[in-house]
Amino acid sequence: MEVQNNTNERRDFIKKAGKGLIAATLIGGIELGETANAQPSGAVKQDAIDETVPVKFTPIKDSSEKKEGSVPSPMRPSKRIGYAFVGLGRLTLNQLLPAIAKCNYSKAVALVSGDGEKAKKVALQYGIDAKNIYNYANFDEIKNNPEVDVVYIVLPNGMHEEFTLRTAKAGKHVLCEKPLSVSSASAQKMVDACHKANVKLMTAYRIQYEPHNTLVKEWTRSEKKGKVKIIETFNAQNTADPTHWRHVKALSGGGALPDIGLYNLNTTRFILGEEPDSVLASMYSTPGDPRFKEVEESVLFQLFFPSGVVSSHVTSYGVHESRHYKCHTNKGATIGLKNAFAYNGQQLELSEVKDEMEYKSNPTFGAEKDQFTLVMDHMSDCVLNNKTPYTPGEEGVQDHKIMEAIYESAKTGKRVKLKRVEGTDVFRGDAPKKAE
Ligand code: NAD
Repeated sequence: MEVQNNTNERRDFIKKAGKGLIAATLIGGIELGETANAQPSGAVKQDAIDETVPVKFTPIKDSSEKKEGSVPSPMRPSKRIGYAFVGLGRLTLNQLLPAIAKCNYSKAVALVSGDGEKAKKVALQYGIDAKNIYNYANFDEIKNNPEVDVVYIVLPNGMHEEFTLRTAKAGKHVLCEKPLSVSSASAQKMVDACHKANVKLMTAYRIQYEPHNTLVKEWTRSEKKGKVKIIETFNAQNTADPTHWRHVKALSGGGALPDIGLYNLNTTRFILGEEPDSVLASMYSTPGDPRFKEVEESVLFQLFFPSGVVSSHVTSYGVHESRHYKCHTNKGATIGLKNAFAYNGQQLELSEVKDEMEYKSNPTFGAEKDQFTLVMDHMSDCVLNNKTPYTPGEEGVQDHKIMEAIYESAKTGKRVKLKRVEGTDVFRGDAPKKAE
């Protein structure tokens, strides 16, 4: 971490020195000022200010009102972690580039695309220097670009391994979209390559940073509404275009399960913290539907946990978008989350029994957070402060192992045992900062 910070500061200094802005200013390792920003004597030196401490306002709302939350406190741009985005598809253009503008510690500095014209246009739109545009062939040159700290891989799943290995070889940290790859063996290779190269690997599991899902996790772990015994989840969307990579097995690794059913699986593991020790599953695709020649349409699966919790899951590419779950406790409570796996719009649905009366409510709290902003800033925090990502590569590998058992069970019709894992949060790293 210190190495990283020093590198960044050295980089800032060199950049400024190159522009003639530094006024003979390094004393005891502290940069004192720039001629362009000369401070009157007695004034607070700008570099002595910690910009990450929020500006404070006195409250103007009664304490019964929703808290305003802290004022955004971005690091100065020259110190933020620089991201290169590989793959300029829907997720990058619709979500990630707009989200990084709201980050405190992260900034977009480079693009990697097979379509040079699109990359030039996007670079203009987001103020990215055209010299930092790469294609898939010259991508490895990114190792010589000191502006890039993290490579964010947003390609079809079947390409994640190749680009993670190339990124690790270039000595850059990796943030990789879910699913981590197309098999546990491939995902493990990614983990091993990043360990060997001493770079971080994070699986971009946005739900594990989303405040509503985090609250359900906290209530479950603390047994606030009783002990959660049964979890039921549903995640579906209706797909089109049989030629899209999501319907091509070599590029996707499977159909609804690895793409969206992964959320049912991963969020359940996140809420509980423990690992299932067996699975039972079935799957089905509409005969003759051209979308499902290579990959499955629907998967139904159950997970059995050592503590006695059972979870039941449905995922499908064949019905209208719907993404929700319910956690049932032994004390008459049901904690539900509507739009649980969506990009936004999470809504708690709580049902509780007190004195033989059933109460239903939709508790709300705080302002909605951009999940992608939270993911990128967590990765940047890990790089800046030498932490292990909360959802490292190992977390992605574990999901692949369970998905492989789900497929095996669906194929054989039998319950499949998994290697017993003792403890909680065994595959997770350092907890993210609380989203305020
Ligand atoms: P997309 O189809 O919109 O974009 C894929 C990009 O990869 C395109 O720019 C395409 O040109 C490029 N590409 C390069 N080689 C390709 C090839 N051989 N075939 C097809 N495309 C190729 O996909 P997307 O929805 O942006 O998904 C990208 C990744 O992000 C996937 O891993 C997906 O699972 C993940 N994703 C995650 C979320 C989330 O909520 N975290 C949401 C959507 C997608």
